[in-house]
Amino acid sequence: MADRLTLEQRRLNMSRIRAKNTAPEWTVRRLLHSRGFRYQLHRADLPGKPDIVLPRFRTAVFVHGCFWHGHACSLFRTPATRTEFWLAKIALNRQRDATAVSLLKELGWRSLLIWECALKGRGRLPESQLAQKVTAFLNSDAMFDEIAEKRISPTAEEIL
Ligand SMILES: [Zn+2]
Repeated sequence: MADRLTLEQRRLNMSRIRAKNTAPEWTVRRLLHSRGFRYQLHRADLPGKPDIVLPRFRTAVFVHGCFWHGHACSLFRTPATRTEFWLAKIALNRQRDATAVSLLKELGWRSLLIWECALKGRGRLPESQLAQKVTAFLNSDAMFDEIAEKRISPTAEEIL
C-alpha cells in the first residue's frame, strides 16, 4: 500500500506530521518545571493544540520550529529545491498559527510563542534570560508575546 504512494504524496504526508516532544520543547518544559510552574501538554481541546498549557496563568505556549513556522531568523533557510512548495506550506502554517492565537484570545487564553532560535543556534538565550522572559510574561497582563534569538525579534504584527 505504502509503495503505491508517489514520492510527492509521501513528502506531503511526512510534512503533515506535527512534531511533538521535540528537543526545544523539552528545554522549555524543564525550565518551567524547575521553576515550579505546572503545565499540561498538547491540549487538543484548545485552538492550535498548544504544545504546553499553563492553566493557572491561562496561557498557551507554542514552541515553534523556525523553518516550519517561517521565522525570519538565523535558522531559516529558503529551500533550494521545491521552493514554491515549501514556501506555500510554510505560509499555510503561519496562517494557522495566527488563527490559533486569535481564537485563543477570544477564549480568554494568552499565547506565548517561543521560537527555536531562542533555544538553539548562535542567537540562543542563556537559560536565565529565557526563564526571566517567560516568567515576566506569565506575571504580566499581556495577551501575546514571543521570545526569539538575540538578534532579530519580529513584531507581533508580522506574526499576526
Ligand atoms: Zn527563529
